[in-house]
Amino acid sequence: MRSLLISVLAIALAACLSASAFAASVTLPITQVWQHKDTNMLCVPAADATIHAWNHAIVCVHCGTYCAPAACSMYALHWGRGVPFTNQDNIYDNAKLSGGEILGNGMLETHGLGMYAGTPMKQPEIQTAFSYAVGVWPYQWGPQGGQNPMLTHPMVISMINHNNPVLWIDMGTWPSDQSTIPVELYYDSGHCKIIAGYNDMNTIDPADDQYLIYDPWPNSGSPYWKMANQVIDPVDIYLSVWDGVGTKASSWGSIKQLFGD
Ligand SMILES: [Zn+2]
Repeated sequence: MRSLLISVLAIALAACLSASAFAASVTLPITQVWQHKDTNMLCVPAADATIHAWNHAIVCVHCGTYCAPAACSMYALHWGRGVPFTNQDNIYDNAKLSGGEILGNGMLETHGLGMYAGTPMKQPEIQTAFSYAVGVWPYQWGPQGGQNPMLTHPMVISMINHNNPVLWIDMGTWPSDQSTIPVELYYDSGHCKIIAGYNDMNTIDPADDQYLIYDPWPNSGSPYWKMANQVIDPVDIYLSVWDGVGTKASSWGSIKQLFGD
């Protein structure tokens, strides 16, 4: 009996070692959130105090512009946050900085505006939304006048291995069943998603690696796999709770400058 136990342990240990040494795929248990008006909070311009259906975004300008609150909600849920920080209406009401929204008053004064990512001349509303939902100011990868480090493939793998998803602000892209973004809106418009895993396809070559994406758009087929080299893009912005080893300590200073002091 004892030798059987030892051999079982040996097999378990071997399985453990091989899993960590040759892990081809690591995915995080993200809760899917679809972008939609998810509480009975009053939307003042539309005189609407109803909850919209989970898949309403395709036909609704309100739900259609909620990818940032929905992505922040997914990120926050992963970190064990709950209501009200995971409600999309609350996230928007507490983080939309422009257009006449009154922060945190329990009503939506703006309708169908979406949120900005701190691109030139725009306030970092998605970062503020992340901060409200998750509870910490995000570390930012990518554009902000070029002073932020760019996200790299090894960094994504390291973050996923350490239980950290990445909020991906895909600039200049709308869901594939939507119209193309007008040129004049390109750098102020995009779509938020969550990078929740990777697969190295059992090869050493990173060129064929894929990421698991949680997309809040109802028609997206989320979750789905996407080529890593189509996710990492120098014009895009990525938010995480964790800064990279050997990179700048924090992007808080650069974001704070936008508000003045
Ligand atoms: Zn709607």
